[in-house]
This record gives sequence, C-alpha cells and structure tokens, in this order.
Amino acid sequence: MKKLAQPLTSNVMTRWRHSVAGCHTSTVFQTNQAIPCVDQVKSSEHLCKSQKLMLELGLIAPSSPGCLHLLPGAVRALEKLCRLIDHEMRAIGGRKIDMPSLAVAQLWRASGRWEAMGQELFRFKDRHDTDYCLAPTHEEVVTSLVASQGTMTYKSLPLRLYQITKKFRDEMKPRFGLLRGKEFYMKDMYSFDASEESAKETYEAVCEAYANLFQKLKLTYVKVLGTTGNIGGSVSHEFHLPASIGEDALYLCQKCSYQANAEVLDAGVVNPACPSCGDSLRSTPGIEVGHTFLLGTKYSSTFGASYLNRHGKPNLLQMGCFGLGVSRILAAAVEVLSTNSELRWPTSIAPYQVCVIPPKAGSKEAHASLMAQHLYQQLSSLPHLNGDVLLDDRGHLTIGRRLQEATRLGFPHVVICGKKSLEAIPLIEVHRTYYDEPPKFMTHRELFDYMEAS
Ligand SMILES: [Zn+2]
Repeated sequence: MKKLAQPLTSNVMTRWRHSVAGCHTSTVFQTNQAIPCVDQVKSSEHLCKSQKLMLELGLIAPSSPGCLHLLPGAVRALEKLCRLIDHEMRAIGGRKIDMPSLAVAQLWRASGRWEAMGQELFRFKDRHDTDYCLAPTHEEVVTSLVASQGTMTYKSLPLRLYQITKKFRDEMKPRFGLLRGKEFYMKDMYSFDASEESAKETYEAVCEAYANLFQKLKLTYVKVLGTTGNIGGSVSHEFHLPASIGEDALYLCQKCSYQANAEVLDAGVVNPACPSCGDSLRSTPGIEVGHTFLLGTKYSSTFGASYLNRHGKPNLLQMGCFGLGVSRILAAAVEVLSTNSELRWPTSIAPYQVCVIPPKAGSKEAHASLMAQHLYQQLSSLPHLNGDVLLDDRGHLTIGRRLQEATRLGFPHVVICGKKSLEAIPLIEVHRTYYDEPPKFMTHRELFDYMEAS
C-alpha cells in the first residue's frame, strides 16, 4: 500500500479539524492520531490533481471505493457553494424542498426506469419485502408528489421545485475522488409549466442561472448539446469545465456557435464536420458539472400530473429537469484552478478567506503576537469575513513554514505580523496567494481598506 506523500496525520489535517470548532490554541495542533483508512486508496489507482491535493491537505478522506468523507474544510466550501446555488435558484423562483433518498420501486416501475437503469441503480428491500432504490435522480418521485397535491390551476404555474441532496449511483469504476463517486451531492430542479412555450422559458431561465453561478465562481465553462439518455425529453444541454482529465469529449465549432458532446454526433466518425455550418470541429475534454432537460409530458403523463387551464379543462404539465453536480463542482474547480502543489479555490467558496500569522514564539518580534490577535479579532468582525478568518497560532513554527502551508491550503489572503510590524508605524505583510506577486506592506488602516474592498 502506498503512503501519500504527506500523511493525513500532519498538522495541516489537525488544523482543519480543529478550526471548525472555533478553537485556536496551540494545543490543538499537538494531536497526532493515526487515521488508518488512508491506506484504502489503492496504490494502483491513478489519482487526479484535485483528488491528490484534497487527500494530502486533509479535505477528504477515503471510506470505501467511491465513498469519501468530507472533512471540515471541504464541508465549509460545500456549504458556501450551496448558498450560492440557493441564491441563484431562488432568484428564478425556485422553491427548495427535500425529498426522500429511499424511493419505492413502484414509482420507478411506472416510468420503466426500474429496468432501464440497469446495474447503476442501488436496489434493496425493506423488512416487508418492498423494493426500493437509493435515488440517483427524482423525476418519478417529484412528479408523483406534484400529482398528489391535487389539481393546480394555471395561476400557480410555473412551479419550480429544487433540492440539494445526496444522490446514489452504483458506479462501475468510481474514481478521481469527488469527481466520480457512488454517492454525491446534487442540486436537482424540476419545473412544471402550462405550455411548451412557457417550459422553454423556464429552461432558458435555469440555463441563465447556471451561467450566473459559474460567473460568480469565476469558472470558465462550456455549454454543449447533450443526449437525453434514459432521462428522456426533447432538448438537453450539458455544462462542462474544460479539463485534461475530463471524461467527456466535446466538439466545438471554430466558426459558428455549435457545441456538442461527442455522443450527440455520429459515433465512429473520426473528424466530424459541424452539422450547422460544415466547418471543422475542435475537440476538447470536459468535466460535466451540469445537465438540463426539456422533458415534455413523459413523466406527467405517467403519474397524471395535470393542471386546469383558463377554461377549467385539465392539461398535462410540461416538465423540465435541471441538475448540478454540487460536490463535483467543488472538485472540478480545484482541478482546473490548482497548481500541482497548491490548492486553489474559487475565492467565493474558499473554506477560509484570511489566515493571520503571528510571529514565532521566542523570536525578536514575538511581542507582535498580541497585535496579530487583535488583527484576527478585528478582521473577524468585518461582516463579510465573519467566521472566515483563521489564526495560525502554532508559535513553534516559523512564519515561513506557516505561510507555505497557508498558501498550499488555498487561503486567498495571508496576513503576517513580522519584523515590520514593530516599526514606528507598524506595517503588516499581506500576501494575495493566488497571484504571482510580491507581498504588500500595509498600515493597519490600509489593510482594513484593502479587506473591505476584497
Ligand atoms: Zn459551425
């Protein structure tokens, strides 16, 4: 069994673990318990960059193949990402619900997907011999929920319901950590409209919300035509982050706006031409992070989900469904932004925004440590940094060592009280770690102006 270069028992790990409890005393860094499960990463497994960094830096830990523990730093990032997603979904009228992960087979048999899903579906029985699955998606469940609420009138449409929950898939080859696991977080929205036209408006609104999200995360994405697969429907798009380890091949037209997953084009054609303009297509690998479907009445007809139109006549609801791989976005972002040795987050979801480093204990500038504590408290009291500042008070380590660790962990800002903080006008050393630039030395006032603006 291969040991990772930096075992999870390092200080880095304990720092993440304890920081969540809001504990900042040096004693917390002395814990050094062995975590045996690290050995479950098989030596034969090829690790991708995000997976390797997240394992080494104590963000994730393996449990069993395809199943990972999310450790405190990763959970902080995930929660921030979920808040951003909530914001975008609510901005388009999304109403958050939470549906059971245990789905009765009866619903899946009605849609024909109990069989069609093949081995990817986790199936099991309860003590009464009733068949269930661990839901990988919720079209059946949500449609039967909506149908059970009684007939709506056209006035209550469109209805846009969403959830952010764990989903399950019995992957043949789980790999790359959070990028392809047996369980993962997904945001899934289901929309119900009165007409095809209005369902298309909903479809466009969700695509725009996705674009806003990726823009806020400052992630470059590609939107391509996708296949509808066993979900069904008439139109489907996928959202990808271009990355060398991406498992999907995307074809992008050099001339017009045509962009599609290779699956959409004729299989077996080596250099397909653009179906829209005939020009040549450029191929690039991508990590799929979102998928949208215009479903029509496939599920509403099966489950009798209808509404009353203006004339009081019942009509089937026009549906759409819209997924975002939430834990996958986390890993994919780290994959495309990080260097080989340093973790980089979209700033808005970095587990912490600022690391404050006081001087080394026993050094000449040791009495600046009180100043560092004050800085830590003052920065923490800024509304947008509340709870997002960490004090690395492991005074037995040099400033340089702690700066290096903070940079590796992906703190966007590192604030150091070193030698210059003892000058007549104290200067604080500020590193913007994501940028290749020398540190800035700022007065107390300048630091706060800078942080207010960041
Ligand atoms: Zn073209």
